[in-house]
Order: sequence, then structure tokens, then C-alpha cells
Amino acid sequence: MRGGGAVQDLLAPVFALSAALNAATGVIAWRRRRATPAATALAGVCAGLALWSGISVPVHLDVPVAVQRWSVYCSFVGVLGCVVSLYLLARTVADPHFRPARRQRAVLVAVPVLVLAAVATDPWHHLVFTQLDRVGDPPRLEGRFGPLFWVHTAWCYAVLASAVAHLLHARRRAPVAVRRQIGSLLLGAGVPLAGNVAVVTRPDVFGSQDLTPLFFTVTALVDARAVLRQGLLRVVPVARAAVLETVTDAVVVVDAGGTVVDVNAAGRTMLTGARPDLPDPVGVPARSFLSPRALADLPCGHTGYALEYVPGLHLDVRITAIADHRGRALGRVVVARDVTEQVRTRQRLEDQLALVERLRAQLAEDSVRDPLTGLHNRRFLDTALATELERAARQGSSLGVLAVDVDRFKAVNDTHGHAAGDEVLVAIAGTLGSGMRRGDVAVRCGGEEFVVLLPGADARAVHRRAEELRTACAALRVPVGGGALVRPTVSVGTAVHPADGADAASLLAAADRALYAAKAAGRDQVVAADGLVAG
Ligand code: GH3
Ligand code: MG
Ligand code: MG
Repeated sequence: MRGGGAVQDLLAPVFALSAALNAATGVIAWRRRRATPAATALAGVCAGLALWSGISVPVHLDVPVAVQRWSVYCSFVGVLGCVVSLYLLARTVADPHFRPARRQRAVLVAVPVLVLAAVATDPWHHLVFTQLDRVGDPPRLEGRFGPLFWVHTAWCYAVLASAVAHLLHARRRAPVAVRRQIGSLLLGAGVPLAGNVAVVTRPDVFGSQDLTPLFFTVTALVDARAVLRQGLLRVVPVARAAVLETVTDAVVVVDAGGTVVDVNAAGRTMLTGARPDLPDPVGVPARSFLSPRALADLPCGHTGYALEYVPGLHLDVRITAIADHRGRALGRVVVARDVTEQVRTRQRLEDQLALVERLRAQLAEDSVRDPLTGLHNRRFLDTALATELERAARQGSSLGVLAVDVDRFKAVNDTHGHAAGDEVLVAIAGTLGSGMRRGDVAVRCGGEEFVVLLPGADARAVHRRAEELRTACAALRVPVGGGALVRPTVSVGTAVHPADGADAASLLAAADRALYAAKAAGRDQVVAADGLVAG
């Protein structure tokens, strides 16, 4: 504010130009405020500078001293607006999600208000300017600074230093492109410092003019280029929002109070599909849409599970807790992917696998069954006999074997036909089968021959059971068409393990020998391999 120097005459038009430049940049930044939060802060910087520069014009014109004094007082509004906005600009570039905390907001408002109050009442207490008068020839406004001026200056520089510190800190972790942008801002911050050093060191050129608003104007132009042209901030949040809207996963953001605060397009479709009565999910308690599981505590910050959200809609759900940079819980993000198609495919595969398994089991069963009588077949006998012999050896128990053959069966076929013969075989198989107890095995070995295994039965029990079966068969009356009844009989040869045979072959051979003996003895009787004849 002190006069002198070669640039004095130029100052009024230069400040006016600076004011116009800042106003124009401010308008451009303000128009772009939706693209990036940094643009709003930049608009604030420009507005402050436009005021600061504009109000410096009358200080350098031949106008009444009172007007000049009030211009100086009013310039404080611009200075403080510019400083606070520069701080917010730096913080926003360093972290696009930056929002000043409540206490920080209070300080950024309260200090400027107190300073402005002090400046406005300065003519009464002179704590900001001990003197503010016109001196010299030609007369120029000159001020002597009071203690409050220095307090104000110190606060402004502290705020700016803090902004620079945040930029330096953010630059270390930032991706390359953002680092370039932060570099521009740091360069811009250096201009006022360099300018003021030049003013102090070259009084022959600059006199003692306060050119600070001009230096800050350069800062604002550099910052404007960084924010509006190096445009990462402009692109990233917009691109993120666009991606979020485009993805097919449903994204639902729930705040700490359990209210839905944001959904993307897919999320809106999903939620309104579940609750058509609530057309806008935002602002609605999340429990209206989401299961208690989705809203339960997240011990490790995230969880995931699958569920059938509504009948026929299967979702794979991922839930992540969100917190601010101080670790305070802000809520949770629920991301749900429609996996109905995968679930259906898996279900189809499982059904097919179950069918294949059923068919395989059926085939396995069929391969050991006799289709005519439903009894097990010879193949099964081999396995069963081996198993039972093993068990008998292990437990030291006995095993009875009956060889059963229908008597004069050929005659049945010859007299009544093959189909009638089949009827008789089925009837005898039924009789043998129904005479079985737990653990017993009856098989049709082929033709009209059957074998029965009686695990645990000793010689006496074997004879008794054989006799019971023979008697039951002899009691059969099988209708074979044309009113005829066939009265089949069977001959039975018995053998007992281990006495009559140690292995399957010798045991079966012993039973067969006994069977032939029964046939030879006249049929319809039981003969034991050890020579005991019964029936
Ligand atoms: P034996 O008292 O000596 O046993 O006389 P058999 O007539 O029963 O003896 P043989 O072994 O000579 O005759 C068995 C007959 O059983 C011969 C065959 O035609 C008949 N056969 C074999 N398998 C079947 C079948 O599945 N169905 C019918 N209907 N007959 C069969
Ligand atoms: Mg036979
Ligand atoms: Mg026979």
C-alpha cells in the first residue's frame, strides 16, 4: 500500500485486468462445478481474487481517502475468501471425497468472521492498521500494520502451508496422472512466494507495492488449468458413476442407521421387483428389502452368501462395511449378482447326475437279478457265497447251502407249454423267497435250479429249513390255464460249511451231490451231503 516504483502508474489497470480475468475464470469453474468438487473451490478462489484485485483498483486511483481506506478494508473479504478456497481446493484435489469435518468448518468460518469484524471496527481501535493515511507527493495511501494484521497474516500463511503439506502428502501415494495435477497445484502455490521474494529483493523495480493479488492470480490460472484441463478429477468420479450404473450387479448402499442411501440401476430394478409397493428404495429402511443376514454385524468387514431372494431369483451376495478415513462406520455396500442361470444349470446337472446314478444302480441290480422270477441270479450267488464264507470264517460260524431242483419239470413244459413252466418257476421262486429270513439268500441258478444260502445255520437247522421249503413247494397248486393245476415238487440237496466243503466250489458240489442223491432216491425229498436222509 506504500507508493513508489516504476510500476505504480500501471497498477490500477493491471488490477482491473486481474479482477476481470479472475471473474471470467471463476464463472467457467462454477459452471463446471458438477464435474468435480475441485471446480467449486476453484470458483471460490477466483471470486476472492476478483474481489481482492478489483478492490485494489481505487487504492491506486485519485479518489477520496475514505474510499481508499474502505477499499483496503473490503479487500480482506477477498483475501480470506481466496485463502480458505485455496485450502479447500488443495484438500479436494488431494482427496476427491474430502469434506471438512465440523470443527474444521467452524474454524474456516469463525476466523475470517472475527478478522472481518476486527477490520470493520478498525477506525475505532486501530489494532489492524495503526495508521492508514495518504502520504508523499503525489499522495499515496500508506498503512502501518497493527498486531491483528499480523495475526491475520500468520493464520492465512498457516492455512496455505497446511494446504501445501496435504498436497505433498497426497502426491506420494497418487497415481501418475493425479501426481501431475498435484504438481501443477504445488507450482501454482510457489508463485506468490517467489513473487513476494522478488518484490522484497528488487525495490528498484517494484517499489513497495503489494502485488500479492496479482501473484495469486497466476496461482489461480495455474490451478484452473490443473483442475479444468488436466481433468482427471472431472473424469474419474463421472466414469465411476457411469460404470456403477452400467454394471449388471445390483449395488445397494446402506448407511449406518440402516437406511438405503444409494442404489444403481440394477439395484433399483432388483429392489423394486421385490417390493413393487415401494417404487423408490432410496430413503427407505433397508430391512424392507434386505434379509437380516445382509444387515447383521460384519465381524471381519465383509461377508458373502447365496440366497433365493424371491422365488426363482438366486443371488450371490457380497457385503462390505464402509468407514471414513478415521475408521468410523458409515454403513455397508451390498453387491448382489443374479446367479439364477448358474443355479438352474447346476440343478439340472445334479438332477442328471442323480438320474445317471439311479440308472447305474438299476443296471447293477439288474445284472444280478433274474428277470423271470425276480430272485438274484448266478452271478450274485458267486459274490454272496464268497462274502458269506468270509464272514463264516471270521466269526467261526456255519453256513448252510441248499441245491433245489424242480422235479420232472420238463414234463410240465411238455404237457402245459413253456409259459406254464414259467408260471411254475415263478411260483416256486415266490415260495423260496418268502421262506427266507434275515441274511438268507435265494438265487435262481438257471433253468429250474435254485440255490439257497442259510448263514449261521448248522446241519440240523439246515435240514429243518430245507424240509420246510420242500413242503411249502409241494403244497403249491399252480393254475396254468385251461383249468389245469400243476402240483410241483422239488428235490433238495444240502451241505454245511465247513463240514461238507471249505470253499464255494466244494460246498456247491457237495450240495449238488446230495441233490442227485435225492433225485435218485425218488425226488420230493431232502438229502444231506453228510448222508443223512430226511423227508
Ligand atoms: P428231474 O426231475 O430229473 O430234474 O427232471 P427234469 O425234467 O426237471 O430235468 P431236466 O433237466 O431234464 O429238465 C429241465 C427242463 O427245464 C429243461 C428245460 O426245457 C426247462 N427249462 C429250463 N429253463 C426253463 C425256463 O426258463 N422256463 C421253462 N418253462 N422251462 C425251462
Ligand atoms: Mg435240473
Ligand atoms: Mg429238474
